[in-house]
Amino acid sequence: MTRRIFSALLCLAWVTHGFAQTNTPVSAKAQAIHQSAIVVDTHADTPQRFLYENFDIGSSDPNDPGHISLDKARAGNLGAEFFSIWADPVTTKDHFARATFDMIDSVYQQAAKHPDRMMMAFSVADIERAHKEKKLAALMGIEGGHSIENDIHLLRDYYRLGVRYMTLSWSNTNEWADSSGDINNPKVEHHNGLTDFGKQVVLEMNRMGMMVDISHVADKTFYDAIAVSRAPVIASHSSARALTNHPRNMTDDMLRAVAKNGGVVQVNFFNAFVDDSYLQQSEAQKPEREAAVAAAIEKLKASGKTVTYLDYDQQEREWAAKIPRPPLKSLIDHIDHIAKVAGIDHVGLGSDFDGVSGATPQGIDSAADLPKITQALLDRGYSEADIHKVLGGNLLRVFTEVERVSRQMQTETAK
Ligand SMILES: [Zn+2]
Repeated sequence: MTRRIFSALLCLAWVTHGFAQTNTPVSAKAQAIHQSAIVVDTHADTPQRFLYENFDIGSSDPNDPGHISLDKARAGNLGAEFFSIWADPVTTKDHFARATFDMIDSVYQQAAKHPDRMMMAFSVADIERAHKEKKLAALMGIEGGHSIENDIHLLRDYYRLGVRYMTLSWSNTNEWADSSGDINNPKVEHHNGLTDFGKQVVLEMNRMGMMVDISHVADKTFYDAIAVSRAPVIASHSSARALTNHPRNMTDDMLRAVAKNGGVVQVNFFNAFVDDSYLQQSEAQKPEREAAVAAAIEKLKASGKTVTYLDYDQQEREWAAKIPRPPLKSLIDHIDHIAKVAGIDHVGLGSDFDGVSGATPQGIDSAADLPKITQALLDRGYSEADIHKVLGGNLLRVFTEVERVSRQMQTETAK
């Protein structure tokens, strides 16, 4: 989830072409490599659509502008998706937990509706089983520590409901973790990274086997988390700051720290995070865009409408359409950079599908286009084994280690 208000940047037109069209040919060799991988994406905001738009993931509407559907997942051999559970800090203020539970329920409802093609998954073993059964493994990650309402009991309840990662903060600093989204806002009370309670949260996540996600957090929160965590961390949807200078992206020093920690950085596809020219145009547009979006939202509120994420999204799409999409090369450059700086064992895919108002690079219109990434990596000389690591192998290794550390910590506690 990337959004206005805090760091608004945006996005692309509501593209209306069918997902089967391709403008980058994928060779038989690339297709074979892609189809033999367990492809894991660690961030999609589709639950906003499930909940607020009544979107059915089984939809086969060729004009649907969304990034994810079961058909698109199948076409792109997407094996596992971590659906983002995001309680909007503005529109769900004062009931974050309820918003979180509603979002979790929306994922289960989709899986219940399509048992032949989709299954809830809570472990590496589940992902592998789903792959064998040719079903999409649906996992969940909470985006933003504000969802736990400063209550460790709620954190444990979320784990029991199946949540397998939590992003320590979204774009808003919460009571225990500073965010990159408002770190320079003097009106926000900051904590110099993680508070003592925040450190307890990280350790409890380690103990339960919930992955610690450092996307969105302030740099100091990142270093605190990596120092405290007993298990490898993930960045569920973050790109490289050396290439695109945005505070949501990770510096080379951070990339090396993740490598040392054994974790993985899952590259975000959002245009403003992977392409400097796009980012600059988006920043230039920002004052006018934010004022226009705010005015449009006020108008909706005045008419008595309950404003949701989708209302913002629609506005943002119109503004994104004014900026040309960057080439796919921009996204591949980020994968390549992280592979060079952190190592091939520490990079993966965290699309931010359905969370960026359509603003993805040319050729990437949905999950069906994932094979183009394999083709592009192959063109750059990556081996089949290395491509498989990027497509999902690295994330599965980290998840396995998180599960192992959890078992170990629970044995220690039991003694
Ligand atoms: Zn996000």
